[in-house]
Amino acid sequence: MNDRQLSKRLQRVAAYVPKGSKTADIGSDHAYLPCYLCLEDQTAKAIAGEVNEGPYLSAVSQVRQSGLTDRISVRMGNGLEVIEHADQVDVITIAGMGGALITSILEEGKGKLREVDRLILQPNVSAVTIREWLDKEGWSLTSEEIIEEDDKIYEILVADRGENVMLYEEDRKKKMLLGPYLINEMNEAFQKKWTYEMKNWERILTQFERATETPELSAKKDELKHKIEMVQEVLR
Ligand code: SAM
Repeated sequence: MNDRQLSKRLQRVAAYVPKGSKTADIGSDHAYLPCYLCLEDQTAKAIAGEVNEGPYLSAVSQVRQSGLTDRISVRMGNGLEVIEHADQVDVITIAGMGGALITSILEEGKGKLREVDRLILQPNVSAVTIREWLDKEGWSLTSEEIIEEDDKIYEILVADRGENVMLYEEDRKKKMLLGPYLINEMNEAFQKKWTYEMKNWERILTQFERATETPELSAKKDELKHKIEMVQEVLR
């Protein structure tokens, strides 16, 4: 991977950034994504945000090497604190972290989201946490993708402000867990991911069946059974 040749995962994130956007890439590591966006689109600008010094320094060095210091500002800071004013960016990308961490970055930086039009989020796990948060905060999930790269499966969620997409009136829990668009598409990566997850839950359930029953355990078992049933229904 480099500034011109992104991984398939980051290419799919980049595909949702509209031309001419000011993008803040949070957790930018080598700043490959903002460099790619600015090399592909002469009108693009970006902020590369990093909380850790090592990845921050890699990002600084990559932006210099790519000759993009006039269009990409590399900033060290936690989450959205690298965005100084709410009107500085149109798009935020957060990729390669868990869904819970992505959600906490968005929640802590809520004030910086007022003028943002689009969020492009790529959780490695727990996309459900992000879907719940987006829905609670009035963001509309407008696209989703699930892809496989190097034997790993990734989900990409795109949310826009101001759209009024009614997604969850029926089967809310199932759609939150699996993704309202991904359920309809049911591609190979989707089937592989959820077959694997289901088998894993079944294994856990078998272990729970052998343990001494308590009210907590019983609730956990019911939750697992419910999730297995939901996935079975979709994959059938
Ligand atoms: N976004 C790149 C990608 O998808 O390939 C890098 C992903 S890397 C696994 C996660 C990066 O996020 C790390 O460089 C880490 O230092 C950074 N990070 C984690 N928590 C962060 C936070 N709260 N604010 C900014 N950066 C963060």
